[in-house]
Amino acid sequence: MLGNNHHLAVRKALGAVALSFLLISCATNPVTGVSELSLVDKSWEIKTGAENYPKLRQMSGGDYLADPSVQAYVERIGQTLARASDRDLPYEFVVVNDATPNAWALPGGKIGVHRGLLLTLESEAELAAVLAHEIVHAAARHSAKDYQRSALLQGSIALLGNAVAEDVREDTQKWASYGAKMVTSRYSREAERESDAFGMTYMQRAGYDPQGAVALQQTFVNLSAANDARFATSLFASHPPSQERLQANRAQAQRLPKGGQMGIEAYARAMAQLREAQPAYDSYDQAGQAAAERDYSAAKALIENAIRIEPRESLFYGRLGDIQALQAQPEAALESYQQACKLNPTHYYPYLRLGLTYKRLGVVSKADDALRKSFALLPTQEAQAALAQLSP
Ligand SMILES: [Zn+2]
Repeated sequence: MLGNNHHLAVRKALGAVALSFLLISCATNPVTGVSELSLVDKSWEIKTGAENYPKLRQMSGGDYLADPSVQAYVERIGQTLARASDRDLPYEFVVVNDATPNAWALPGGKIGVHRGLLLTLESEAELAAVLAHEIVHAAARHSAKDYQRSALLQGSIALLGNAVAEDVREDTQKWASYGAKMVTSRYSREAERESDAFGMTYMQRAGYDPQGAVALQQTFVNLSAANDARFATSLFASHPPSQERLQANRAQAQRLPKGGQMGIEAYARAMAQLREAQPAYDSYDQAGQAAAERDYSAAKALIENAIRIEPRESLFYGRLGDIQALQAQPEAALESYQQACKLNPTHYYPYLRLGLTYKRLGVVSKADDALRKSFALLPTQEAQAALAQLSP
């Protein structure tokens, strides 16, 4: 926006903000104890988190379900840390099926950990460090504060509060940039410092050795120095590691009481099946690459290898279906998509592909059914357009 329009838009937006939040106030930050301007209230945080959590999970490969005990393990450690935090929020923790090493927190305490991050950690204390760090981002309203700032700057009052839900239905793309921004935008250095320091305090209170946070930061600094490509666009985008943070964590560990558990064996046990399945996920990634290069027979061999190693993974059957569809074998693709839906009935993707394949074959009612299921899980434009074409 340029010139006068810009000022007008900002004035209008500020006016709308003032009307929407009559109780703009100075509130004490429950984590730091510092008094600060608060434009968003707790109900906004909880609502925003609850509305965006399922969608962000859908867009991150869905929940990781191949070994359900991993999900339960992360949830248990997360809730232990949440109870040790300074703020009562409806915390939830989920492992999403994404290979990039990342973790994120939405306002209201909705936290996600990528499958790929779990494989770079070596102890329960390191996992606790990740979760506690994200808990602080949520508890201290870091993304809510960033969000209210950017909403004010853009004059986009429409994205605040109630309007979010309507926008999602109208335009998934808009949501995608909104959700992705909330998760990948850099926190301020101040926010990172707070999350590291208070996260370590929560770890200590929950019985973990705060040295886990030092080890975690050391791993990240090493990977960053090695210029590991997987990391460049993931966790480091929102939480840049540095020697300075590593030093600060060492100093904080000195200040906290000594002891607490590292949980190296417990972590190895919990991740044993996931680690064993790692070659299958590598094979899955390579199959995607081969398919992109139109080498479908190589792609099929790779994905079949993945399924042999880990037959419980829905993503693998989804990709097998995609390859079969590309090979003009829609009947075989249908079977693969059905198996993918069976293994993970909570992910939009196999339903979408199942519906589109039925539609291509002219099986209207089954296409309609699958597309509706997919749309209910994540309202994509693709499903919406296909449904519109199906209805007379
Ligand atoms: Zn962070």
